[in-house]
Amino acid sequence: MLIFKNKKNIILFELGIFFSLSFILLVKKNNKKIRKKIAEERIKKLFVLAYNKALSYDFKLADRYVKLARKISMKYLVKIPVKYKRLFCKHCYSYILPDVTGRIRVKEGKIIIYCKKCKKFTRIPLK
Ligand SMILES: [Zn+2]
Repeated sequence: MLIFKNKKNIILFELGIFFSLSFILLVKKNNKKIRKKIAEERIKKLFVLAYNKALSYDFKLADRYVKLARKISMKYLVKIPVKYKRLFCKHCYSYILPDVTGRIRVKEGKIIIYCKKCKKFTRIPLK
């Protein structure tokens, strides 16, 4: 049991709790940053792997890597980089290798991505 003889001790005790709590919060914040960094690296690696698999015509695995990357980005609230965002279909999330599983064209100030799997278009305006 803790017995406080005067108010000073109580204040010191409370201050101690406050600082230890804030220290835990700081560590948690840093952990979050570290986690996000690791998640970003994993997303990049997954897209590189997906590209390699697509080049060897293994589109099942490429699609799976895209799905995993999306899952990681949603779980850790990390954005998928723009250059990777245009490499998969917005509707069915399958990997797009230009002229094999899809088509990428620029027309009237828009990037038009056509997916051969679900036969849908994605239009992204250019600035
Ligand atoms: Zn699609």
